[in-house]
Amino acid sequence: MARHPITDALSDWYATHARDLPWRVGPAERRAGVRPDPYRIWLSEIMLQQTTVAAVKAYFTRFTALWPDVAALAAAEDAAVMAEWAGLGYYARARNLLACARVVARDHGGRFPETEDGLLTLPGIGPYTAAAIASIAFDRKATVMDGNVERVMARLHAIETPLPAAKPELKTRAADLTPEDHPGDHAQAVMDLGATICTPRSPACGICPVLHHCAARKAGIAADLPRKTPKTAKPTRHGIAWIARREDGAWLLETRPPKGLLGGMLGWPGTDWTESDPAGTPPVEADWQDPNLEVRHTFTHFHLRLALRIATVPDTASPTRGHFVPKHEFRPAALPTLMRKAFDLARPAFQPD
Ligand code: SF4
Repeated sequence: MARHPITDALSDWYATHARDLPWRVGPAERRAGVRPDPYRIWLSEIMLQQTTVAAVKAYFTRFTALWPDVAALAAAEDAAVMAEWAGLGYYARARNLLACARVVARDHGGRFPETEDGLLTLPGIGPYTAAAIASIAFDRKATVMDGNVERVMARLHAIETPLPAAKPELKTRAADLTPEDHPGDHAQAVMDLGATICTPRSPACGICPVLHHCAARKAGIAADLPRKTPKTAKPTRHGIAWIARREDGAWLLETRPPKGLLGGMLGWPGTDWTESDPAGTPPVEADWQDPNLEVRHTFTHFHLRLALRIATVPDTASPTRGHFVPKHEFRPAALPTLMRKAFDLARPAFQPD
């Protein structure tokens, strides 16, 4: 099948303008026969789900230094991986990351499956990630759809149907442009265009390599696309976190249950998060103070307002939940973002060490 002129224009542009990313094998290296490492592609794709490239780079570098291949990650301690993941959010992904590494190491001889169908059988890999890995790591013809690709397709073809209803049509358009040869480079070219030129609010059409093929640009509606169906407002939930410090400086923390939000992560004992007044029993007997501090945090489906209570307790205190982490072992950076915010807010309310 003849290549579409848009595909050719993108390919020429990518050859000289590809972003330099730590997990990427760039177009020049690809031409020299270098093949991407599926482990690195997979790890980057999991980290990039709803997180920016800029935020992921440092995490990716640390992860690959600690665990350079899938066998090393499969053998890692759960707690060590969760601690390194802290701050990236969406902790279910970190658990799936480990589960996936272990399945690949145990059931696939340490090699990732090469097809979308094979990849879809692995924990934590959905249609987008399967297509991205098949395409980028194995050069399989797959249609990789993310927010960047949807935006570029909506604009190139001036598709005014709002998202999410437009998704099937956008996918068809993206599939039509995907070439038989080097589909992985093509997928990355579209993503790069969306990330660097065809950006959400102010597309730089003047320097765009597909300017002359773009229907939205011609119609003067580029910045208005893709249209979106208005979102329903997120509810607000409320909770209380109890932050206790022993006189010797140890902090009372607990490992959250494996299922649910922040599952398996370390955090401050607290109430359930509810839309009405939260209720619960503090984890240790103490003279609990209300310092009038509240952490605000937004999860995918709700906003959370977490009120803090603080107490200093004797070294003999015996909690009904959680365990005291000695001062020299406590690493605030290993806490998930919400719990870290709570610590940062509460810390000044305690006596200095
Ligand atoms: Fe996006 Fe403008 Fe290029 Fe069209 S011409 S693809 S709107 S940057």
